[in-house]
Amino acid sequence: MRLYSLLAAAKINLYLEIVGSRPDGFHELIMVMQSVSLCDRITVRSIGVDEIRVRCNHPLVPADETNLAYKAAALVSQRFPGVMAKLGGVEITIEKQIPVGAGLAGGSSNAAAVLVGLDLLWHLGLAQGKLQELGAELGSDVPFCVAGGTAIATGRGEQLDPIPGIDRLHLVIAKYESEFVSTPWAYQTYRAEYGDTYLPDAQGWQERQAQVRSGEMVKAVAQRNAIALGQQLHNDFEKAVLPAHPKTAHLRDTMANLGGLGTLMSGSGPSVFTLAESEAEAESLVATLKLALPDPDLGVWTAQFAPTGVRLDG
Ligand code: ATP
Repeated sequence: MRLYSLLAAAKINLYLEIVGSRPDGFHELIMVMQSVSLCDRITVRSIGVDEIRVRCNHPLVPADETNLAYKAAALVSQRFPGVMAKLGGVEITIEKQIPVGAGLAGGSSNAAAVLVGLDLLWHLGLAQGKLQELGAELGSDVPFCVAGGTAIATGRGEQLDPIPGIDRLHLVIAKYESEFVSTPWAYQTYRAEYGDTYLPDAQGWQERQAQVRSGEMVKAVAQRNAIALGQQLHNDFEKAVLPAHPKTAHLRDTMANLGGLGTLMSGSGPSVFTLAESEAEAESLVATLKLALPDPDLGVWTAQFAPTGVRLDG
């Protein structure tokens, strides 16, 4: 095959706790990550010349070597020297559906899809664990985006324990197009405001992990109890990001008041999601949200929990 088309799923965080500051400069996290059906389409195509090219239909996404998809291809070609000379370079086409800079891991999911796609295109025969190891070099969310589904993520987010998730639970995702949150800014702000609450050492982090693993959130997921899940949603970033982003704070309040099973900002924001019991409830939430906030700047999507991160299209 000279071309593979893949779907790269966005992720939301059902739970995100910042527990400490690691010696490597990253934060120690405890998260429950969930893939959703909102996805980008990534095509990897062999080209005759020994180079990596990126094309993308979104004006805010760079089509150069700073694109995370490009970096993924560069990493693979560096780890497998000669593969491009033998099998040709690659043109990566990104059709964006996932809002950019939204806390939905759009770039990470694209990088994950390139790893999976190049493994096929260049006949590398890499196991999923190896692709995730490579992914961890590109970004903390990339390993999760390779496998997807539902997982408890610890460390800086790259240590994953997959858990059975709630099948196809419906949700509404909303984001003001003009609102962006830089993830480094969100961490710096959180550290400045809440750094004194960090647990100081690895022993404390492990004890906290054990509490979360046996806690109500993980129980709700394991028991596939969508109502309990909605009540257990939590994201530490909300208290640092929402005060600085009143428009998103108002969106979150509005969505929470409209109903559904529970509302949360995803990752470092500014996208906000509400879980819904059924497709009909999700559609009704979209309609009432658009009536409550009739602003052309507001993007609204319906989606479902998805069981995989990257999959072949078709
Ligand atoms: P995360 O949830 O992992 O923090 P995010 O959803 O907040 O990520 P992205 O959509 O990945 O954010 O985009 C963050 C920045 O990365 C953007 O400013 C964008 O220009 C840049 N970027 C680089 N490559 C990509 C890509 N393939 N897709 C989207 N953005 C990319």
